[in-house]
Amino acid sequence: MECIFCKIINKEIESKIVYEDEKCVAFEDINPQAPVHILVVPKKHISALRDAGEEDRELLGHVLKIASKIALEKGLEKGYRIVVNDGKEAGQTVFHVHFHLLGGREMGWPPG
Ligand code: 5GP
Ligand code: ZN
Repeated sequence: MECIFCKIINKEIESKIVYEDEKCVAFEDINPQAPVHILVVPKKHISALRDAGEEDRELLGHVLKIASKIALEKGLEKGYRIVVNDGKEAGQTVFHVHFHLLGGREMGWPPG
């Protein structure tokens, strides 16, 4: 398996893990775009959001809820943003579905 996030999940590649349970892992983005930039990923390899099946509904809901819990633990009660890039044109570069948790600075809208 050549997926970089699967390697992070399997601890074959080092990362700064901030949360882990039986279904998901959260770790710091290597190239942070905000003071807090954490990636929350399901342990199951799903290439992109579009490839998630009905059976992944609960899993993705869990991952999203964990992202919001981490945000509050990180002191982001004033606000934070959760982003999924789905597909190349949206900026997806790693094809293992992930939620970006961003916060700690004023966010612009519309996003770039
Ligand atoms: P995407 O562009 O697919 O939405 O997001 C991929 C994210 O993964 C990027 O923000 C990028 O900085 C991050 N990333 C890529 N490779 C690694 C890595 O090896 N370790 C960590 N911690 N983050 C990575
Ligand atoms: Zn993967």
